[in-house]
Amino acid sequence: MTISQKRERMTAQKSFIFDYLKSVKTHPSAEVVYKEIKKKLPNISQGTVYRVLNNFKEKGEIQAIDTKDTVHFDADISDHAHFICEKCGNVFDVMSECSECGILKNKKIKAGKINHYKINFYGVCSACKK
Ligand SMILES: [Zn+2]
Ligand SMILES: [Zn+2]
Repeated sequence: MTISQKRERMTAQKSFIFDYLKSVKTHPSAEVVYKEIKKKLPNISQGTVYRVLNNFKEKGEIQAIDTKDTVHFDADISDHAHFICEKCGNVFDVMSECSECGILKNKKIKAGKINHYKINFYGVCSACKK
């Protein structure tokens, strides 16, 4: 395989992973992304998926949410808070319920001006409460 063929394949895999992440709201872990991508691209390796995800993260194209068990990925990089279930580890978007979350954005506080925020709420999700 030539370098340009390799590069082409890499680009296709990358955009596939990105499109998948964009299409879900479930904040999948790298493991879940790998499983889902493998259904469509059976030849992809776990290492590639992990590398691509880290690369996106480093470039700020996706965001990572750390929970105690794993890291979850989100292609939605707009400022929004997350709710993390302490039982199942699922990550949920908290948007409309938390309009106050963004209240300090662009505000000057003692320490400086706020450009972005990351807020995680922890609790037990309604599925686990049952
Ligand atoms: Zn739960
Ligand atoms: Zn999110």
